[in-house]
Formats: sequence, structure tokens, C-alpha cells
Amino acid sequence: MAGLALSVACTSGESQEVKNYWPQAGVTYEIFVQSFNDSDGDGIGDLNGVTEKLDYVKELGANAIWFMPIMPSPSYHKYDVTDYRAIHPDYGTMEDFKNLLAEAHKRDIKIVIDLIINHSGSGHPWFEEARKGRDNPYRDYYVWAQKDTIEASINKKVITLDSDNIRQWHDPGVGEDFYYGFFIGGMPDLNYDNPKLREEIYSIGKFWLEEIGVDGFRLDAAKHIFPDDRPLDNHAFWKEFRSKMEAIKPDVYLVGEVYDKKEIVAPFLPGLPALFNFDFHYTLLEALNTEDGMLLAKKQKEILDFYQGITPNFIDATISSNHDQPRLLNELGSDPDRYKQASAILMTMPGAPYLYYGEEIGMLGLKPDENIREPFLWTTKDKDTGRTSWIDPVYTTDATVTPLEIQKKDPNSYFNHYKNLIALRNSNPALAIGNLELPIEEYPKTVMAYSRTTENQQIFVIHNLGAEEVLVNVPEEFDVKLFALGTSAHAEGKVKLGKNSSIVLSK
Ligand code: CA
Repeated sequence: MAGLALSVACTSGESQEVKNYWPQAGVTYEIFVQSFNDSDGDGIGDLNGVTEKLDYVKELGANAIWFMPIMPSPSYHKYDVTDYRAIHPDYGTMEDFKNLLAEAHKRDIKIVIDLIINHSGSGHPWFEEARKGRDNPYRDYYVWAQKDTIEASINKKVITLDSDNIRQWHDPGVGEDFYYGFFIGGMPDLNYDNPKLREEIYSIGKFWLEEIGVDGFRLDAAKHIFPDDRPLDNHAFWKEFRSKMEAIKPDVYLVGEVYDKKEIVAPFLPGLPALFNFDFHYTLLEALNTEDGMLLAKKQKEILDFYQGITPNFIDATISSNHDQPRLLNELGSDPDRYKQASAILMTMPGAPYLYYGEEIGMLGLKPDENIREPFLWTTKDKDTGRTSWIDPVYTTDATVTPLEIQKKDPNSYFNHYKNLIALRNSNPALAIGNLELPIEEYPKTVMAYSRTTENQQIFVIHNLGAEEVLVNVPEEFDVKLFALGTSAHAEGKVKLGKNSSIVLSK
């Protein structure tokens, strides 16, 4: 069904062709299988459950799915892999996964899987061998140091954005050596100074791309392949990884998690052509919570210019939340207007937006991590056969979140808001792939204004991030309203916007 053209009605009454801009600018939906949809009644989400919901993903308008880890692992989150060539039995079989892939591809939905190669699980057979002793053939798959030589550096000095652990060297319980594990002892770091290990990893990539047929990988903890004092080795590794994967599948999609600010993130682009934009996430929250109109627009312009200085060929994977962040609605003071505006900003700014499952129904959740990964609510509890029950939800319950089935019938629901915005983006080339330009005119402090421009389309977007109504000038030629949120009025070059209200205009 690639290339299938659909039509959606715009606010202006015109109708535009919906296009698939993935990977450059399409929407990717992040799914935690465990919590998504249970097909066999054991309370744990599974791959067949996802297959049942592919039409839903399509209806939402996403072009791709990123699966959090699906490989065997002892933990609920599965970021400590014990077998890189299999499916976790809770989630189903490799045949189930192949069926999911075929069904997704029929619907023109790409499939990207989490590949966790910075570390394995401590239960991986490689590590079980390696810990046996210095002579073991798998010893050099991991990073070891003699206890007494690392005593001084056993506790790291700086806590980073993506890790709050103090210990990086861990006692395997046998022998004289400690092993390095950036995150926790249960996740020993793999040793990329060892060419044999590298070949092993490339062969795993080949397995998923060639034998199974996934479209790409999300590379977890990409910044930590080598320690922070070896950034150049990190960049070089990913360039090699990319060339190896492209030799197998020339159009492979690789998106990396480099959890840091743009100066640290950007040099990874030559190896990882798509990178998550964490600055976007944090700045979006700050802009909305402090009612600082141009903060994000200016920041994003800086980021894009900075990336351009490294390479013109990059994909800016923008995020408003993910599985490591408190749920977006909680981050925005549980204010529904602010929340709807956050997605209006995400979907009208440049980039390739990622949407974390459940945000489209306004799921709630705060740390610990399990509680930002709670079960999706398909319908009311009495008849929700797909709802997972592996955890008792604390934040997302029938009392706090309206299930999808009910939201579908309400034109003002979060679900219909997300769906409309994604359709708006996918049917207006300037919103998907247009340049970002900031206005010269000064606006009131709470106003966020920018234009998105392609050769054939110009769009002007204005948001009022504040609680007080604003009245602002807009270029008169932008006289067609494509989309509006909240309370707005537009006539003769003037726009009035109420609390957390937005308007999208074209010529
Ligand atoms: Ca199940």
C-alpha cells in the first residue's frame, strides 16, 4: 500500500493529499509491548496484540513503530538482553514477529526495534562465560580491571543526565577483577576495543535486517560505547556500525539515543543519521511552564543550525516525552490546554516527531519508571480484554484517564486532537519538511511564532503560551486558517489568542 493517497478535510474546507514523510519528517509511535495490548489473556502485552492494533496506529497517522526491547531478558523493561536473536517468550515467537512485520508493511508502517548493544544483561551466556576467569575466550567481550588498580575510580564523580548510579565498576563475585557497567551491575558494558565483539554485533544487526526484515534500529545508550573521555572513538564506532548496516540494507534507519545537549549530540550524526532531540523535550516543557513564547523556537533554530554545521544530512528526532520521562501531562501541571498545545507545537515544528504510546489519550505517570509505562486503556475496564495487568497502575486508571474508545467519539478528546494534528502535518508539506523561520517582529512575551516554508507552501504558526489573551499582527497574506486550538479569532492581519491557544495559517 506504499504511495496510497488519502484525503483529509482541513479547517479551510480544502482537501490535501496525505503523504508519508518518514523517515525525514514522518511520525514514529513508540510502543512498550508489555503494556500495550494483550492478545492471549495472560495480562502481559504481546506481539500478536500489537498486530491486532496496527489499524489503530494507522488511524492515528503514524508512519512507523519503535518497539522498546523485545528480546529475552529477565527484567520487565528488557534492557538487559540475554539473547540477541530471539523474541521474549512473554511477547510471543519469532513467527509472531514476522507476521507483525508483514502486516505492518502491508499498511505502509515501518518497524524499528530497540537494539541494546552498549551492554548485555549479566545473564547473557557471553558474560556467564567471561566472568569465569581471565583465560576464558569471552573475557574480552567485556571490560575488566584489577580491583586494586581501580579502587580510586570505583565511584564515578559526575552523575549524568541518563544515569544516577555512582558505581561503574562491579564485583563479579569471582576472581581479582571488577567489570565495568555504566548503568548497573546487571548491565555489563560490552568491550568495543575487541574486534571479535564488534563482528558479533554486526552479525546480530545482519540477522534482524536480513533474516527477519526489520526496517531499522533504535540504538540505546549510544553515547556510552566508550567512556565519556573517548568521544572520538564513540563517533568512529557509529560510523563503522552505519557502514556495516548500510552494506546489508542500504536504506536502514538508525536512530540513536545520545542523552545530552546539542554540542555532545551533533558529532554523532555522521554515524547515527537520526538522533533524539532531548533539548527539544526539555525546552518545550520550560517554554510552556514559564510561558516563554520564543524560547523553544529560538533553541530549535540554534540546534538545527548547529547540526547543519556538522552535516546537512540528518534527521532531527523530536520528542515531547518518552519511556524515561514522567508523562507529559504530569510535566505540564496536569493542565489540559497546555498539554494539547504541547502536541500542537511538536507537530508544527520541524523534525521527525516521536509519539510515546498513551500520550494520545493523555495517560498519566510519574517515576519510578514502571509508572510511566502503565497499561494502555482501550476501553472501560469491564470490557477491556486487551488491557494488560502485569502491573497495578497508580496513575492511569479509569478514574483519571478516559479510555480510547470513549475518546474516539468525542471530537474534543486528546485522541482526536493528536489524530487531527498528525493529519494536518502529513497533508501540509511545509509543516513536515519546510524550513523554520523566525519572525522579525517582536511579539508579547508569551507568543511563539514561526513560519514553515517550502518552495510551494508557506505556513505561519502562532501559539499563545500564556494564560492572558493576546492580540498580535500577522502578515496579511496568511489568510487561510488550516488549524486552530483553544479560543482564537483571525481577521485582516490580526490574530486574537486566548489561554494556550494556537492557530496555523497559510497563504
Ligand atoms: Ca499476553
